[in-house]
Amino acid sequence: MKYIVIVGDGMADYPLEELGDKTPLQAADTPNMDEIAAKGASGLFKTIPDNMGAGSDIANLSIMGYHPRKYYTGRGPLEAASMGVDVGENDLVFRCNIITEENGRIKDYSAGHISSSEAEELLRAAAEAFSDVGEFYPGISYRHVFILRDSSNQLVSTPPHDALDGEITKHLLKPENSPLAAKLNEMMLRSREVLSNHPVNLRRIKEGKNPGNMLWLWGQGTRPKMEPLQEKYGIRGAVVSAVDVIKGLGRYTGMEILEVEGATGYYDTNYEGKARAALDALRDKDYVYVHVEAIDEASHAGDVEMKIKALEDFDRRLVGEILDGLPGLDDGVAIGLLPDHATPISVRTHVKDAVPFVIMGGKKDDTQRFDEASARKGLYGLLKGEEFMRSLLAP
Ligand SMILES: [Zn+2]
Repeated sequence: MKYIVIVGDGMADYPLEELGDKTPLQAADTPNMDEIAAKGASGLFKTIPDNMGAGSDIANLSIMGYHPRKYYTGRGPLEAASMGVDVGENDLVFRCNIITEENGRIKDYSAGHISSSEAEELLRAAAEAFSDVGEFYPGISYRHVFILRDSSNQLVSTPPHDALDGEITKHLLKPENSPLAAKLNEMMLRSREVLSNHPVNLRRIKEGKNPGNMLWLWGQGTRPKMEPLQEKYGIRGAVVSAVDVIKGLGRYTGMEILEVEGATGYYDTNYEGKARAALDALRDKDYVYVHVEAIDEASHAGDVEMKIKALEDFDRRLVGEILDGLPGLDDGVAIGLLPDHATPISVRTHVKDAVPFVIMGGKKDDTQRFDEASARKGLYGLLKGEEFMRSLLAP
């Protein structure tokens, strides 16, 4: 048996009045996901353990079968790994967003989904100005990494997409009496002076785009200690994702990271390319993890129409392609399909609710559709911890 896990980031949602009290999953036309639900068995999976944050990193760890309580150290080190940046045992690694600040508030946690090349220029300016503080490593679009060598993790940080309410100063690193927090907060605030008048930003403003005028540090952690998938579960795996944090998880769990041309982490991602890469990988791997970010982006944007379109694209151009390709494979393939977490349009951020899932390839129940309400009545009931992975491996 081989295994493929298909993750639609942030797919799950709440019923919306404008959709006649349906969720986007219920309103969207998703025949392929429904086919998987009809052929398999459904349930709910608590991807975010109690007292942990509803981050994609934590949720995807759970799906891969690594209990976040035991393995999670922070988002920064996962992204650094995916970028090929060496992280030593005593290093503290932060996610560093390039954001848009306006009137003392965060206007946009993604600086208008700034291009990687523009962001790299801005980050270079920041690295020059703050070379005495730490090291910057450019990533994709607004997502970068900042490393303090030889530092312990005693700080509390806030993701920029959760710091949209009120003044920036309220959401800076804590505790306030920590000299390290004070130093890094000063850097973040001063980064506005370094970046605001950078030619890249002057051009962006002229073009009506949000400038990348501030750095935001969050998601810090030290290097996680994870045993490879092969050791823990006896399977060899590969990851298909455009998102650094997912690739980082793949690297720490000893999976092969497959690069797909045109995989962007956004609405224009190469769905068909990802499906093909996943099917190809199944020929010599036991387990393939396919992750699509676009649906989460539409959810954060609060854009119902775009979320439904992203769900339908995902269903037709990725899930459908994979279903079509399965008969060409020699072994039986079990499919796991789920979001990592819910990102309801109405709140525009991740929530901790258990997510709907389906596993096709073994057990079967009466569920006919893939959505939040149908999964609640599924045969698996409520899973948590490493139970989804164990259920997938013994479907
Ligand atoms: Zn996510």
